[in-house]
Amino acid sequence: MSRSLFCSPAPGTLQVSALPAFADNYLWVLHDDTHAVVVDPGAAPPVQHFLQQRGLTLSALWITHHHADHTGGIAALRAQADVPVYGPALECIPQRTQALAAEDTLQLNHPPLRAQVLHLPGHTAGHLGYRVAGPVPWLFCGDTLFGCGCGRLFEGTPAQLLDSLHQLQRLPQDTLVFSAHEYTQANIRFALEVEPDNPALQQRARDCAALRAAGQPTLPSSMALECATNPFLRCTEPGVIRSVQARCQVAHSDELSIFTALRAWKNRF
Ligand SMILES: [Zn+2]
Repeated sequence: MSRSLFCSPAPGTLQVSALPAFADNYLWVLHDDTHAVVVDPGAAPPVQHFLQQRGLTLSALWITHHHADHTGGIAALRAQADVPVYGPALECIPQRTQALAAEDTLQLNHPPLRAQVLHLPGHTAGHLGYRVAGPVPWLFCGDTLFGCGCGRLFEGTPAQLLDSLHQLQRLPQDTLVFSAHEYTQANIRFALEVEPDNPALQQRARDCAALRAAGQPTLPSSMALECATNPFLRCTEPGVIRSVQARCQVAHSDELSIFTALRAWKNRF
């Protein structure tokens, strides 16, 4: 099953399609009407089916981090097409051909696109984000930023993940956020515990419930929406500080102390 999120108004226009995989992953495909780039191919069959159905040629694989649900389909896809595999220099990525670091730029002709590489440590040590230039910028952020949430700390410190989220907050507010998992509704339930009186969050809960009831993804979101509703981006808001101090026995009110306690609270939620 695949879902095209953006219709293509003219031949050759770049679009993004969401391929659901496993329980709640999205494999994101950037494509025009002839070529495709796949972000985090955790499984090959949904990608193979989509390419065949659309008559698309695979051009490249972009990997955000080493976890199996983001890399498991690389071998099978490369067995069919000898495409480059872009991934973090700091991590062990199967069949990686291009090792990437912060500030690297990717330029592709088919499909035509340009992306800037961001280093976003925290969930994993070498985690990357891909920021695609365009009239509306796109961000493929893997397991760093989720709809109304953020990734777990497997290989990094709270300070590293907070710094990575700050990098993302500084992107243009209209940047569309393509996270790798459909976690938004569960994250909203937690966010409402933290900020029950946030009207933008209450509206997002209604909007996402309607999308899921209609079988639609809640993604992409936008940086503006995340900044208004995602508690992990709001650790300097008085309401978030009050909730965390009340629930987590935190004496300090600085952003890192609040973020650290909030992440630990979410792990228990
Ligand atoms: Zn992961």
